[in-house]
Amino acid sequence: MSSTCRAVVWKGKGHLEVVERQIPKPDPKMVLLKVRAAGICGTDLHILSGTHPHAHPPLVPGHEFAGEVYKIGKGVDKKLIGARVGSDSYVGCGECMYCRSKKTQLCEKGTRELGVNIDGGWTEYLTVPVENLYLIPENVDFTDVGAGCILNCPMAAVESVKINPSDMVVIIGDGPSSLVMIQLARLKGASKVIIAGHRERRLSLALEFGADHVINTYENDLIEFISELGSAPQVVIDAVGKAETVGMALTIAEREGRVHLFGLPEGPLNNISMDILLWKEITLTGSTGAPGLWPPVMELLSRGYLKVAPIISHRFRIEEAPKAIEFINDNPKQVIKAIFEMQ
Ligand SMILES: [Zn+2]
Ligand SMILES: [Zn+2]
Repeated sequence: MSSTCRAVVWKGKGHLEVVERQIPKPDPKMVLLKVRAAGICGTDLHILSGTHPHAHPPLVPGHEFAGEVYKIGKGVDKKLIGARVGSDSYVGCGECMYCRSKKTQLCEKGTRELGVNIDGGWTEYLTVPVENLYLIPENVDFTDVGAGCILNCPMAAVESVKINPSDMVVIIGDGPSSLVMIQLARLKGASKVIIAGHRERRLSLALEFGADHVINTYENDLIEFISELGSAPQVVIDAVGKAETVGMALTIAEREGRVHLFGLPEGPLNNISMDILLWKEITLTGSTGAPGLWPPVMELLSRGYLKVAPIISHRFRIEEAPKAIEFINDNPKQVIKAIFEMQ
């Protein structure tokens, strides 16, 4: 085995380079992972454009990745060598009450995230804490798991907003996570699932995944559509993260409805009529990561209840990273979810 490997390094706004670097050695309670697939996420595009508040160059991006355990540090079970694993991206202090209950995304010592403010998975080898790992079932592809946070984060949203059988669910935004949420809402027994977005390729996939209605917001008005429907949704998930869409979610929600904030806002969400919360007695929730939800997600993938492969529209090799990112930025209609695949 060579002592070096390739890694993608972000060196500042619009500047991405593929470099050769030393393969790291795993510290105690860490493992060396041979990466087989790494997702390219909307969050990464924020980082590369310099608009992510927690990311500073130089950085190896990649908070979504899966691979094989290649070496182990002291204190790690030898049986893990060769295991097919995915890794959560949040690195917690391990001591606060959030870390002890698998909610490292809320760590009291501050958020440390692989690929965001510590070097991540856009590389052939990296070391990660053993407690971040989860096992991948034999019949699940590395590529599907490499799709990353479009798997566990939508599940966190769906669990947090508590979808009951017979609920009407509206999802605002047509990102890849929304396409997973549709499937999860269906599994929860939602009576009707409606998605609003504007990218045709994603909206037709939404129909394949069981959405009852897709609303192209460039052509139709979601508020008008709901009022013509004659009944309002019990659950609305905002997967965009703009004041306008959150306001829309509160407007269309049924009395005593549940509204969930999932889309990443670029800053404070201002000018929303929050009085609606009171008048309609709405419950508002939010979620970010979900390290504890990987095992149930793996179970759903393994049993075929959750489909990810159709969402992965583009696969790239790590050495073509700069061109891949350029392509993704230039083709937002074509690309749904892209990933890097490694040998
Ligand atoms: Zn902590
Ligand atoms: Zn992500």
